[in-house]
Amino acid sequence: MLPLIKRLVKDERGTVIVVIAVIFTILLGFVALSVDTGILFVQHSRLGRAMDAAALAGAQELPDRDKARQAALDYAGKNNIDPGTLNISFSVDNKQIILSGTKNVDLVFAKFLGFETSDVNARAVAVIKPISIVKGLMPVGIGDDQLPLTEGQDYMLKGGAHDGAPWRGILKYPGYGDGGADYRELACHGYNQNIKVGDTEGKVSGDKSGPTMQGVTDRIEACTDGCTWNHYTEECPRVALVPIYHDTGESVTVVGFASVFIDRVDGQGSNSRLWARYINHTISGETDDSVPDSYLNSVRLSE
Ligand SMILES: [Zn+2]
Repeated sequence: MLPLIKRLVKDERGTVIVVIAVIFTILLGFVALSVDTGILFVQHSRLGRAMDAAALAGAQELPDRDKARQAALDYAGKNNIDPGTLNISFSVDNKQIILSGTKNVDLVFAKFLGFETSDVNARAVAVIKPISIVKGLMPVGIGDDQLPLTEGQDYMLKGGAHDGAPWRGILKYPGYGDGGADYRELACHGYNQNIKVGDTEGKVSGDKSGPTMQGVTDRIEACTDGCTWNHYTEECPRVALVPIYHDTGESVTVVGFASVFIDRVDGQGSNSRLWARYINHTISGETDDSVPDSYLNSVRLSE
């Protein structure tokens, strides 16, 4: 019996060694798999974050598709995404930019199993939403008879006596009166309360030529960066928010908002006029998809 047991033990040792070898190989395989999976996971989340940011950068230029595409590509290029691997598309209404991209990632252990690289994919969707409540409005705006607005075009926010219209375009916000000092304060610093789409605002009569000249000139001169309507700093005092309104006669109804670049005050005496250029500048804030005429949007990720 003894030789048989010995042989069995010997066989078992052999088996154990084989089993250990197999387990070791499997374990190695798992380690390799987990290391490479980890690499792919990290690369995937990096790509995802960069794509999200590129989509947001692009959305800031919507609804202009060409500008949006360029902004997304520029951002991607600066963040190690090969622009050639990006696929960019838009929704029909140009309120949504959709990015999808692929990155080829070098593998470490899987090479020994014959897999050199693997692709990771990411997709990002960013949208613009119309702002429905704004704080900091100027006491002038743009009538809805001027719509649609064109980026870079100048609009007269306040007319002068020579323009012939009975109302020059000055708005009366709650808590403020008809006085020149109130108007100058608002023109220079903006209204410190919220105004929302659907609100009714009063009209201020008179030219307010002096306060326009002073309040707006103060504001223009506060810009020390030499900004222009298509090249301005984020905090530029010449970038202002105004309501888009529907004139109902005695008062106006706010139908949307726009961002403008305060261009100039011209005219003499009672004829001073305030001009601003419409700019597509996004801000963060409360939005409402039902706002039809907003030229002021917020960008966010979707999906
Ligand atoms: Zn500036």
